[in-house]
Amino acid sequence: MTGQDSDQSLPWYKDGLRFQCTECGKCCTGSSSFVWVDEEEIAAMADFLHISVAAFKIKYIRRRDNRYALVEKKSQNNACIFLKDKKCLVYKARPKQCSTFPWWNELLKSEESWRFAAQSCEGINDSAPLVPYSQIVQLGSTT
Ligand code: SF4
Ligand code: SF4
Repeated sequence: MTGQDSDQSLPWYKDGLRFQCTECGKCCTGSSSFVWVDEEEIAAMADFLHISVAAFKIKYIRRRDNRYALVEKKSQNNACIFLKDKKCLVYKARPKQCSTFPWWNELLKSEESWRFAAQSCEGINDSAPLVPYSQIVQLGSTT
């Protein structure tokens, strides 16, 4: 494979994308989707909060479609249970779904989907720092 061929096989964001989180908290609020978590992520958050996994599940987890999701605060525009004053109370142990945003496959699949994501995430904008492709690959997920 030539260098040119390999460059052509790179995705549309091969030159990087502009993003910097402003910590506005919007992506932790009002979403129509859930924050899905698995047993490993639950254990990590329980450990971070110094409570048992059983206690964590009772307080912070709801079963949905046979999966685990973080509880939302209905009275506060469906904000995540861990969002307080725009800060994540479990930031260092936050689930992969959160730590990999906005580098999700579904948002990176086209320029159009990336532009759509920018409508609800103010961190995606032309004046934000350029995140290089290599870093996007590293930060991304299979979500
Ligand atoms: S919506 Fe975007 S800028 Fe706001 S907290 Fe989420 S990732 Fe950061
Ligand atoms: S766990 Fe933290 S980062 Fe994830 S949605 Fe809740 S508040 Fe936001």
